[in-house]
Parts: sequence; structure tokens; C-alpha cells
Amino acid sequence: MDFVDFDGQRDSRGYVSMAAQKRGRKGATLLTGVSAKPLRIERRGGKLESIRPTAENPKLHLEFSQVRTADDLVAFMNRYGALTNAIEVFGYERVVEILEYAREMRDLIGADRMRTMVVAEGGRLDISGLTAALIVDRLTGEMRFQFRARNLLDALRMQFSQDLIGDKLGLCLKCGVPFRRGVGTGRRGDALFCSDAHRELFKSHNRSAKRKG
Ligand SMILES: [Zn+2]
Repeated sequence: MDFVDFDGQRDSRGYVSMAAQKRGRKGATLLTGVSAKPLRIERRGGKLESIRPTAENPKLHLEFSQVRTADDLVAFMNRYGALTNAIEVFGYERVVEILEYAREMRDLIGADRMRTMVVAEGGRLDISGLTAALIVDRLTGEMRFQFRARNLLDALRMQFSQDLIGDKLGLCLKCGVPFRRGVGTGRRGDALFCSDAHRELFKSHNRSAKRKG
């Protein structure tokens, strides 16, 4: 069962990238109603098929992080559908903005960038457009939270975040910096500290805090 739920849609005929359109004469936009359009991706006009891309691939964010060009993005969308609801609102997906999200995720996936992220984001990675529900898990019979993403981009950011806090990465209890753990990292899979030094510092701090209390 997934932590985040997402029901997507895909054009059965796929998607196509369109070059940016420039405005005509200056100021003509408002008068003529012809607006400039950015580099964009539009539907080919097929039927909308229901798909569940993140449920079928829990590592889809890794594939998304490798999207670097408009052609990459078309190929990604041909398989997994649109990233945002911009196609419903504007009629197209904005290429430059989506590539920026992919680049950001690509940068953050390198473990040595984690510290940068924690600082840059003020210690948090915000994910908008999620709704939460309390549900009874049909498999376990236990109550738990279930998050539902509004669009594929949010679902991928959620998946990415889950990867960060999953088995491979821990947050050090002493310094709060994410660290790699498990096979091949030199830290046990259930390690709580980035280093032995921080484990000792944390323990001695707690001991002295108890003495004072
Ligand atoms: Zn630490």
C-alpha cells in the first residue's frame, strides 16, 4: 500500500512539444487577445486514459529526475501523463518550469547536497496540493494516514521525500543532517546518528541533562 495515492490521466495518443510563440507588436496582446505562449507540451487529442504511475513504480521520481530536455519530457509524459493540471487550465504544460523541478530533484538526490537542501529550504521541503485522510488499511486492519496527490508532480515530490526518509537515509538525532545508512555505507541500517562521535555526544549530553534535572 502506498503512502501517497495518485490517480493520473494520460492522452491515449500522447503529447507533442511546441516552440514558444512570440507576441506581435508591443502591447497588442490585450487588444487582440492573442497571448504569447512559452515552450510547451500539448495533448495530441486522444482519449484520456486512467493510469496510476506512482503506484506502479515507487522509484518513478528517479526517472523524472533524469528529464533534461523538452523531448525527454514528452517521452516521460507519453508514458506517465501530464505533471500538473496546467493542461486543463492553459491547454499546455510549461516545459521550462517542469524541467526546473526535475533539475532541482536531480541536485537533491546527491547525498552531499542534503545539507544544502536542509539549509536552503529552512529545514523543510514543502509539498503542496496533498489531501490527507484517516483510513483503515484493508491489508492490516490498522488505521493510518493516507495522502492523496493532486497531480503527478506532487506525487513525485512525495515519493522523493519518502525515499529521503526511508531505509537508505536517516536524520542524525544529534546534528539533524541526513546521512546514508545500510549496506555499503559503514552505518547500520537502523543507525540513528551520522557518526559514532555524534552518538557519543548525544548520549553524554543526555546524561548531563539528567544529572542537572
Ligand atoms: Zn550528526
